Parts: sequence; structure tokens; C-alpha cells
Amino acid sequence: MRRPIFLDRDGVINIEPSRFGKDYVTIPGEFQFIPQVIPALKLLIDNNYDIYVISNQAGVGKGIFSWEQLEEVTKHMLDVLSENGVEIKEVLYCPHRSQDNCNCRKPRTGNLEIVWDRYQRLKKERIFFIGDQERDIQTAKNFSILSVLVLSGKSNFHSLGSFSILPDYIACDLYDAVINIVLK
Ligand SMILES: [Mg+2]
Ligand SMILES: [Zn+2]
Repeated sequence: MRRPIFLDRDGVINIEPSRFGKDYVTIPGEFQFIPQVIPALKLLIDNNYDIYVISNQAGVGKGIFSWEQLEEVTKHMLDVLSENGVEIKEVLYCPHRSQDNCNCRKPRTGNLEIVWDRYQRLKKERIFFIGDQERDIQTAKNFSILSVLVLSGKSNFHSLGSFSILPDYIACDLYDAVINIVLK
């Protein structure tokens, strides 16, 4: 039986925009795949994982970029992946600001619940959330699944010192997480 795996986007799949001086990825040209992401995603699919991307994009709610621009970025990501034989099951964004108090902004779990409803016969065993920030780890905890912190985005070993919650696992990047944690 296939099982879902939840991935954050920025800092996990593509280069975290803060690394090139931006708060958000607003155009396809700013979306750059992190090395080895495509083989990592292929391995997940080949090992019966359905891939879901769960991403906060508050820049939409703040009016920094439009939902249509976000869709263009998503289309670019999915086009490149599909050219490489990778199908993402679904990309679920939260476009809201923190003060909007929605249910889908991580660390809240609204978008995970939408996905999980499709897998009702599964137990929450070896279900992973892979992200690059503390709120991703908190999201996994809030949903009672395993967390993997990747160091390819906003966090490094040093930042772990200020986390109020620790990840179940730590990996260099998505490929490392897939090879050494998820598929172990
Ligand atoms: Mg991120
Ligand atoms: Zn939301």
C-alpha cells in the first residue's frame, strides 16, 4: 500500500530564497532545485511513497506576490519534475498571514489532514515530514508523525540550540534524508 510523505518546499526541494537575499520565491526563475532532489523524489516514488508538498507562502496574503504568480512557480516546478519522470501527488499551500489565524499555516496541520483523509487505513507509523525549519518539526509533532530536519535551508546545527522542539532525525539534505532515514 502506498503511503504519504510530506515535504516542505523552500529549503527542501528548492534553494531557500533567503540564501539569495529574497523573502519569497515569486517567479519561476528564482526556483532552483537543490542538488539530488530529483533522484531523491524518484526513490520515494519507487518505494511506494506518495509525495505531498506542504508549504507556507504568506507572501500571497501580504500582497507581495499573487496566487497566480505562485501557481506559475508551481507549474515550473511540476513541469521540470514531470520531464524527469517525477509526479508530485499534490502541492498544498497556505497563502495566509500568521494573524489570519487559519488552520493551514504550519505549524497547524489543516493541509496534512486533507491528505491524511485519503489514507484512512494507514497507521501513523513511519510517516515523515521533512522540513528545514523549527515550525516544520512542530507541524510533524502536532500531527503525531516523524520529523526530519534538513540542513539545506534555513537551519544549521547552530540554530538547533534555539529550537524549543527537536527533530526525530537530522539530515544534510533531502537525498540524505531519503537514503539514510526514510528508506532505512
Ligand atoms: Mg522551508
Ligand atoms: Zn492558511
